[in-house]
Amino acid sequence: MDAISFPAVPDMVRDFGFYIDGNWRTAGDRKTMVRSSPAVGKDVSRIALCTKADVDEAVAVARAAFSSRSWSGITGKERANVLLRAARLIRENLEELALWETLEAGKPISQSRAEIGDAAGHYEYCAGLAQTLSGESFNTHGDDMFGVVTRQPIGVVGLINPWNFPFIVLAERVPYILASGNSLVVKPSEMTSATTLLFADMLKEAGLPDGVYNVVTGTGPDVGQAIAEHMDIDMISFTGSTRTGEAILKASTSNFKKASLELGGKNPQIVFADADLDDAADGVAFGLCLNAGQCCVSGSRLIVEESIADDFRDRVIDKLSKVKVGDCFDPETQIGAIVSEQHRDKILSYVKLGVEEGATLAYGGDSVTVGEGRFIAPTLLTGVRNDMRVAREEIFGPVLSLITFKTAQEALEIANDSSYGLGASIWTKDIDKALRMMRGVHAGRTWVNTTIAGGPGQPLGGFKQSGIGREGGKMGVEEYTEVKSVHIAIGKRSPWVR
Ligand code: NAD
Repeated sequence: MDAISFPAVPDMVRDFGFYIDGNWRTAGDRKTMVRSSPAVGKDVSRIALCTKADVDEAVAVARAAFSSRSWSGITGKERANVLLRAARLIRENLEELALWETLEAGKPISQSRAEIGDAAGHYEYCAGLAQTLSGESFNTHGDDMFGVVTRQPIGVVGLINPWNFPFIVLAERVPYILASGNSLVVKPSEMTSATTLLFADMLKEAGLPDGVYNVVTGTGPDVGQAIAEHMDIDMISFTGSTRTGEAILKASTSNFKKASLELGGKNPQIVFADADLDDAADGVAFGLCLNAGQCCVSGSRLIVEESIADDFRDRVIDKLSKVKVGDCFDPETQIGAIVSEQHRDKILSYVKLGVEEGATLAYGGDSVTVGEGRFIAPTLLTGVRNDMRVAREEIFGPVLSLITFKTAQEALEIANDSSYGLGASIWTKDIDKALRMMRGVHAGRTWVNTTIAGGPGQPLGGFKQSGIGREGGKMGVEEYTEVKSVHIAIGKRSPWVR
């Protein structure tokens, strides 16, 4: 097996500065934070803990770039060329970006590589949208009036991202923000800042004018909060937990900036007796194990028709027993490391809680030690009721709760009995049932006979406490624009003052 075709794991801790106005800044006398890799158990990177003054400077620079029209004033075609060059540079640097994604986030190298490739696709897709973004015209106002609705960039966007998919979440937002001509200030998660920073050089090489893409690093309560409440930011795009989303929304009222929130989920996998059960079991295993369950659309609630529940449980256990956990740099590995020791302990405490609540531990439930990394075996709890905390709270690990139902109506009620509404998967070969469930389920992303399928083109977002607004697709670009409704009089005005 060709295990090391990527750049080697660095021997030394790499210092990342931060990036404002097309220039790198060193940490200087600021405090710093070192990232210990969950994948290899050693320190790999160091970031600056930026200050509020740094955020102020980054915002002022982004505002100046926006006002200068160096990006906002050029043609969609010119912006498209930059986005296409950025996509090419992402592909050329795929191995380095994937290495840092695996080192900092602990995901298997095969999944990091796939995410970097997918990320490039978003820049290519947005090159098209940069050229086709348009408004509406109204030729229906009679001989004396013409109406148009235009879209224009909203201005300066603050972008705050999570650690679980650092580069793909960035790619599901940055080209959409850039397509209409906005400037931005990004704060990556303090645990996974490397790829957001490395990308700054690629955007510069691609031809993005200085000051349009700025990166400030640091913690949420300091740097994130300063962005969310900043008076000169026009829109905040936040992806992370529902709890932090609430703080962001409150902070955004400082100047009533527009807020787009992509938050947590407790996503149902609904399996009917008439499904292709082998496909469904495979999809359930994938939906649980992707990114070690540290995934907003992780299929963490398994809602199974009672008549097949035992058979399906055994099929799922069979699949989980074959999933490869461990060495993140082995291309065959399917479950990588848990992002931090604290988070691993939290996941394991949920397994214990589920058993205390009356569930049965049917598979897994242990931490797995491979080298210096930290891992958790895929875990199945059976006999779960939807009112148990393991069924209601986002565990954010590879822990699956199996709940049974008797009728389609009951399945829908269980699926929708959640404060979240992010994703849902429906497994059945009955097209009428599939369509009725698809219509009834409260979820911004719904899959039929598959799970976590996606890519550029279709919007992402959640119902209920899973978020506000949509990222991606045509809507993803439109979200970052202001709409202006214009009436234009034709000919001599009919006087009001006589
Ligand atoms: P988190 O909410 O802890 O942190 C997200 C970001 O917010 C980080 O950059 C963090 O530094 C910052 N932050 C923390 N407190 C802040 C504050 N008070 N003010 C401003 N910023 C603050 O989330 P996380 O643990 O990094 O990510 C996991 C969560 O993200 C899960 O709930 C997951 O479901 C969600 N998520 C959602 C989507 C989606 O598209 N809906 C995608 C990925 C992750």
